[in-house]
Amino acid sequence: MAKNYYEILGIDKNATKDEIKKAYRKLARKYHPDINPNNKEAENKFKEISEAYAVLSDPEKRKQYDQMGHDAFTQSGKGYDYSNVNFEDFRNFNFEGFDIFDDIFSDLFGGRGGRSRRTDRPSKGEDIYYSVQIPFADAVKGNYYEINLSRHVNCKSCGGSGGDVVTCPACGGKGVSSEGRDSIFGFGRPCPKCGGQGKILTNVCTSCKGNGFVQKTEKIKIKIPAGVDNGSKVRITGKGHEGRNNAPAGDLYIVTKIIPHELYERKGNNLYVNVDVDMFEAALGEKISVPTPYGAVNINIPAGTQPDQKFRLRNKGMPKLKGGGHGDLYVVIKVKIPQVAVENDRAALKEMKNHYDIVNRQKIMQKGKL
Ligand SMILES: [Zn+2]
Ligand SMILES: [Zn+2]
Repeated sequence: MAKNYYEILGIDKNATKDEIKKAYRKLARKYHPDINPNNKEAENKFKEISEAYAVLSDPEKRKQYDQMGHDAFTQSGKGYDYSNVNFEDFRNFNFEGFDIFDDIFSDLFGGRGGRSRRTDRPSKGEDIYYSVQIPFADAVKGNYYEINLSRHVNCKSCGGSGGDVVTCPACGGKGVSSEGRDSIFGFGRPCPKCGGQGKILTNVCTSCKGNGFVQKTEKIKIKIPAGVDNGSKVRITGKGHEGRNNAPAGDLYIVTKIIPHELYERKGNNLYVNVDVDMFEAALGEKISVPTPYGAVNINIPAGTQPDQKFRLRNKGMPKLKGGGHGDLYVVIKVKIPQVAVENDRAALKEMKNHYDIVNRQKIMQKGKL
């Protein structure tokens, strides 16, 4: 039986909204696909926890879910089917006003938004991770792409401050509450008004709602170099979120995901391609045409070529992303055997079998005896 949403998030049936969010964030940080490139298991896990969170964080849906039970609820189509959603779609997912990516990434890569924005210190902009699906041919040749990049730019109305930053009147800028000490640890409690920052924001900017930045979408052209693989990160300097107080912007990382090719199977920088030959060609030897990403090539297969025998074509594999050169292409021979029905042919083959008695089954029968 499938796990229920509470089990997936590892929480109690009576968990509060905060506990749900906390559990989700913890798991999302662990399983986020950008942190686990090429890890299908993590990606599925991430979808699973996101689905659980989408339902349980919505009071209306949670109520229905509790009433109907897991199976009935998911089968009714009320839940969201994440099974076919790729993680690129997740990037822009917004649950009930809670931008999970902002949230996860601000946790991962240092604070963004909220209080940390409201200090006067210059701080470098956050990096942005952007996933792009690349057809196999572009992974071989490289290509240019145009993407719609959404990034934080400093709010022009307030100059990025979000409003007026003033000393907290409640604690006088100390950030510590004057109302006694924490009874257990003896530390001062953080001031509830400023959250321990010592500063608060007044005259909150209406353009950016105090964030100090606004979201801006721009089309940018990116170059994907030849040789990228699943999870390759292409860095574009300075195209991350803008920095505060003239600090440099973060970087943009294009995380590539390669759409597999029908024929070419990739292992590192090497490629494998299956090529059919018939029994007669394998037995007699033949000059055959084989496909490579760089055009057809003729190869000689010798007489007596065996099923799954490999022939290496040097430098016909993937371009190497670092260091130049190419991997190799392996042609894997798939021998096709006809069902011989014509009586004369059957007789001829039987005659041949007597000439070429190449299989010694007795040996294997001996070995197989325990
Ligand atoms: Zn503003
Ligand atoms: Zn304060």
